[in-house]
Amino acid sequence: MYDDNVTLLGVKKEINEANQGEVLYYDQPADGLKKFYIESYGCAMNFSDSEIVASILGGAGFGPTRDMEVADLILINTCSIREKAEDNVRQRLTIFNKLKRQKPEVLIGVLGCMAERLKSKLLEQEKLVDIVVGPDAYRDLPNLVAKANDGDKGINVLLSREETYADISPLRLDSNGIVAYISIMRGCDNMCSFCVVPYTRGRERSRDAYSIVAEAQDLFDRGFREVTLLGQNVDSYKWTSPDESEHVNFAQLLERVALVTPDLRIRFSTSHPKDITDEVLYTIAKYENICNYIHLPIQSGSSRILAMMNRTYDRAWYMERVESIHKIIPDCTISSDIISGFCSETEEDHQDTISIIEWVKFSMSYMYSYSERPGTPAAKKYADDVSEEIKKRRLSEIVEKQRHIGHLHNQKDVGQTYKVLIEGDSKKSNQEFKGRNSQNKMINFPKKEGFVAGDYVMVYVVSTTSGTLRGEIVV
Ligand code: SAM
Ligand code: SF4
Repeated sequence: MYDDNVTLLGVKKEINEANQGEVLYYDQPADGLKKFYIESYGCAMNFSDSEIVASILGGAGFGPTRDMEVADLILINTCSIREKAEDNVRQRLTIFNKLKRQKPEVLIGVLGCMAERLKSKLLEQEKLVDIVVGPDAYRDLPNLVAKANDGDKGINVLLSREETYADISPLRLDSNGIVAYISIMRGCDNMCSFCVVPYTRGRERSRDAYSIVAEAQDLFDRGFREVTLLGQNVDSYKWTSPDESEHVNFAQLLERVALVTPDLRIRFSTSHPKDITDEVLYTIAKYENICNYIHLPIQSGSSRILAMMNRTYDRAWYMERVESIHKIIPDCTISSDIISGFCSETEEDHQDTISIIEWVKFSMSYMYSYSERPGTPAAKKYADDVSEEIKKRRLSEIVEKQRHIGHLHNQKDVGQTYKVLIEGDSKKSNQEFKGRNSQNKMINFPKKEGFVAGDYVMVYVVSTTSGTLRGEIVV
């Protein structure tokens, strides 16, 4: 989708996820309805939020379109995590603004973290933006659109302690019909010193466990075969029923979703090393349909830097958690997020990061260089004193180490047979399927008569090239 959109050609993909700038739409025609166009940036949570926004707009008489030229309302769901992410959004806004000059009646709205961070400043800086909506105010969108149609600026950036959008059934946009996200909590209370999320997404709150299970059941009934439970820190999920008779933690939630049906696969993201418990690990081990894959960001291999980051664990704690994972779930893969060049990072700290990649053997990592975010504890307390040149060099060393370790990891899969969920055609050929094993490795394999997307098949891994495994169906 990203590569098909000519207006996106100038935007640099800075975040290491394939779907930045994805235009979300669905195939049913939106004829007769007012049309909205929505682009999403940043983390999976934002993509999931765009589906909630689409559902709210659907209720207000809007239908989605993939063509911004015909849209009455253009929305951009934004990310503030690094400066580059915000630069991308500003670039996109210049393109939307050109369109608005030709078609003044079109409304432009900025949603998500940048809306929350910059608030009314965004309306002043980006003169042609009509609507600014923070992550907890999406229900107000129809009202804000009406206001903007009347010539006023529509802004709502109030954060909430309760909003979880539990009752809203997300409109699954641009979906392959097989895998879907379910948002289980919002916000974050962790206060990692580098991170803007607690300020843009507010306090942590967990969604009603029953509504999560109901959403999983509904997705399965509609043909979906995999759900990813989403939260900034899923291990601190904690829901209490309104009469306070029931308490559900993350391990118990995982179990409830796993019991929907053994044919629905469950993934989750993101886990926090300080909070992931053995109870969670034993639950993963107990149910075959809970995938043996944990995204467990370490951020740095140096205990000194981890303390400055306020991650509340050190290198030894992280290593102990990894050992427990391997003991309880022997074939579990682990992936990570890593930041290079955090404030005061020395060559020795950097080598600690390189050595932990080698020790854990992450299957893959999202790797970034530190970007100071205004208002965060790190910006207030520490000097951003590692030069861009050094950050860049260290990042490329981290990327190179991870590439090497990832390749070795993939080589170990050659000769193994895995249960794979077919997600659709491979990127390169409609003669091939793509699908992932429990360990979250993508495998491409030739199609075989009688199998369709949504089926589970046993796949023998024949070879590996950089990044992808190739296989063949054996059952
Ligand atoms: N909640 C998740 C966690 O704690 O692992 C991740 C949330 S954040 C959206 C995704 C990743 O962005 C983080 O894990 C971190 O590696 C990276 N990140 C966050 N703030 C950053 C910053 N100021 N500079 C560079 N990378 C950053
Ligand atoms: Fe940011 Fe830390 Fe919360 Fe993740 S856990 S969202 S890095 S504050």
